[in-house]
Amino acid sequence: MKTEDNLKSLEADALARDAADALASFRSEFHIPPHGDGEQVYLCGNSLGLQPRATRQALIDELDDWRDLAVEAHFRGKHPWMPYHNEVREHLAEVVGAQPAEVVAMNSLTVNLHLMMASFYRPTRERNAILIEKNPFPSDRYAIESQIRFHGFDPATALIELDADEPNGTISDAAIERAIGEHGARIALVLLPGVQYRTGQVFDLKAITQLAHAKGCVVGFDLAHSAGNVPVNLHDSGCDFAVWCSYKYLNSGPGAVAGCFVHERHARTDRPRFAGWWGHDQSTRFKMGPDFLPTPGADGWQLSNPPILALAPLRVSLEIFHRAGMSRLREKSIALTGYLEALIRMHLSDMIDIATPREPQRRGCQLSLRVKAGRDAGRALFDYLGERGIVGDWREPDTIRIAPTPLYNGHIDCLRLVQATRDWAVHAKS
Ligand SMILES: *Cc1c(COP(=O)(O)O)cnc(C)c1O
Repeated sequence: MKTEDNLKSLEADALARDAADALASFRSEFHIPPHGDGEQVYLCGNSLGLQPRATRQALIDELDDWRDLAVEAHFRGKHPWMPYHNEVREHLAEVVGAQPAEVVAMNSLTVNLHLMMASFYRPTRERNAILIEKNPFPSDRYAIESQIRFHGFDPATALIELDADEPNGTISDAAIERAIGEHGARIALVLLPGVQYRTGQVFDLKAITQLAHAKGCVVGFDLAHSAGNVPVNLHDSGCDFAVWCSYKYLNSGPGAVAGCFVHERHARTDRPRFAGWWGHDQSTRFKMGPDFLPTPGADGWQLSNPPILALAPLRVSLEIFHRAGMSRLREKSIALTGYLEALIRMHLSDMIDIATPREPQRRGCQLSLRVKAGRDAGRALFDYLGERGIVGDWREPDTIRIAPTPLYNGHIDCLRLVQATRDWAVHAKS
């Protein structure tokens, strides 16, 4: 049998797997973008999550409360604006494995990273370095280098970059241990991702935290590609702080309000911070006094009163995560990504390499694919898929990221990708 016919014969099996999926009904809670007469095969939740159907009404409700109640909506709205950020707290804490007082929804990711570094990167002459991975997301590097300069140090010496030491561009636990062991005494802050955005590699937050704390370093994590993708158990990891955005796996819309975690042990810290009135103790905030008294916990880092129109989609989305449950989502995710990986290894191994680690515990839902024939072929495949409504994303120089997300993707989506890739190969040869 030809590979194409072989792949056709797998459709019944993929559909049967989806029919048996206990989380399958969640797909109908999302708008799947149209393509032709049908729907896209959307495998890009790592970049921008799809819109929940309930989001539109939630926004309209806020506009109506503003129209009908104006200032009174702070207290009498359907979801009163004054305590609004509290409405997302429990579910946000659930998604990242934190205690409710350890999390707050505010600002955007890079802003939160700066606010956290203002408190948790306190360099001295002897200990001023930040340990990062060699190829972090550019915004993180810009933020980190600018903080180093802001304190009068030089990134050329104060930035320690952890190089990939595994064949596919991933970083071994041993390399992390070596770097912390070797440079620990001069590292002020270890700042690593939960999931690396290009390779999809998962880092062991607890192990890294223990190694770094043993050397007296502060530890923070960027969970942009972890939140809503893999369980992270932030509290138990023991890390000092974490930040993440909400428009990727958390499906809260472009530029959505981001998240921030501060470990309980810092709830009443006297570290310096950049303050604003919304971080002031709630019981006396409206006395409008001159002295800043921070609210204990992550709330104490808030600056401004929250953007209600931007928080409404987050509230809707987190409620969906609450119903689905991170552990059930993870279980499905492991199966779904494992299925995609098996299809690729079985039917595309002559043309595609997978950069993402093979072990399920070392990856989330994303697989990073490289076309063996090189960058131009990879780009041509990516464009071919796009024209057929199969949406992943492209990361220079040569990576196609494919993220089957357990809330709205099924096995059939994975099969469609593999079928189309095989068709492209046949097409390219003829
Ligand atoms: C997506 C992403 C960002 C984006 O930052 P914003 O402040 O939300 O624009 C930053 N860092 C990482 C690691 C990301 O994956």
